[in-house]
Amino acid sequence: MTRPLVGVLALQGDVPEHIRALTEAGAEAIPIRRPEELDRVDGLVIPGGESTTLWRLSMAFDLLEPVAKRISDGLPVFGSCAGMIMLADRLADGVEGQQTFGGIDMTVRRNAFGRQVDSFETEVTLATDPEPIHAVFIRAPWVEQAAGTVTVLGTDDRTGRIVAVRQGQLLATAFHPELTPDRRIHQLFVDIVKGQQK
Ligand code: GLN
Repeated sequence: MTRPLVGVLALQGDVPEHIRALTEAGAEAIPIRRPEELDRVDGLVIPGGESTTLWRLSMAFDLLEPVAKRISDGLPVFGSCAGMIMLADRLADGVEGQQTFGGIDMTVRRNAFGRQVDSFETEVTLATDPEPIHAVFIRAPWVEQAAGTVTVLGTDDRTGRIVAVRQGQLLATAFHPELTPDRRIHQLFVDIVKGQQK
């Protein structure tokens, strides 16, 4: 099978880290800033950053509608942190009028771990893998409620909160696997993309 072409939404956030991680996981990775670029890709990553900024820039760059449309047409998408927020059908603690691309039937709470624990690192055990992942959380959200169609992939070993989910070809983590050398999450996503590759 050829290397799938995966876009990284490059409006804001840790784009180079995702490009490197995807390349190491066997994909060809390119930054996406325009709707025409989006048309070419087999999969898309929405990086961490700040979801309110991602929302506003997506509107300014005419990407809000096209990304939402490709998601509903079945494009595999992986969102980390702010990217998880952008994939949620419902938000808790969003700013006034804040919109997402949507796709995963879940409620995600922004900045859920609170101000005191702005950033922290902990182990996350995935349902699919007994070896825990060392996970970096930065002003992270958690999944407050997930519909029956959503598979809970992982909970934070410390709080028990849902921090990794999958629904069909959509994958989301509250933490940042692009910031650690472990490539299992990006590998899982690239495998999902390969399964949908035309
Ligand atoms: N708190 C940020 C938001 O609401 C997400 C933080 C992150 O992506 N590291 O978008």
